[in-house]
Amino acid sequence: MSDSDDSKVARGEYGPVDTPVRPTTNPRAEYPARCLRGHQMQVAGTQAGWSVLDHTETRTCRLCSCLRDPRATWSLVDVTKQQLGDTGLHGGHIRLEVFPPAVRGGVGRIQLRRYGRVVGDVDMAACGPCGRAVLEHIRVDEDCRRRGYGRVLLAATLVRAPASQFTWSTTKLADSVEVQAFWSVVEFPGTLGTPSYCTDMQRANDTLA
Ligand SMILES: [Zn+2]
Ligand SMILES: [Zn+2]
Repeated sequence: MSDSDDSKVARGEYGPVDTPVRPTTNPRAEYPARCLRGHQMQVAGTQAGWSVLDHTETRTCRLCSCLRDPRATWSLVDVTKQQLGDTGLHGGHIRLEVFPPAVRGGVGRIQLRRYGRVVGDVDMAACGPCGRAVLEHIRVDEDCRRRGYGRVLLAATLVRAPASQFTWSTTKLADSVEVQAFWSVVEFPGTLGTPSYCTDMQRANDTLA
């Protein structure tokens, strides 16, 4: 993103910088049944658009838009598009950056960058031969919560280790309302709170310890 683009972002010329996001594996075909407020889109009306800021397709609920709801429009983040490594401060738009583990069964990371800033990340261990995957930790910056970043990060991990090939679990969940709220709205195809490590993961952990 160029300097002039940055100042336009600051002035809000491209729209609000805190537009909610939702994950997708096929942006063009993504026409959800309900908007972020729960309206039936078939009744409320859907408008497809494009976010210059995020460089993604958007969907708008016409009813929410008429009601001037700030959550009327959301950006569709294609979680199948993941880049290797750090794209740095000039990694404009919205992007997923992947840091694979150094050893089999080790912990890798996916981070979400929006307008140059890393807003959240997820740590995961996956072992292909054993078909196991453990979500270690998912984190979103405190001032950027309730926008869907956690959902995008979770969907991105499930692209790397699909539930059809991996048995998923998570480490013990933190005992907080926010953590509960997150896990109660997302679909997780595995066991929450009880990690199931394979011997490769244990060995990789021991090496690091
Ligand atoms: Zn709506
Ligand atoms: Zn293994």
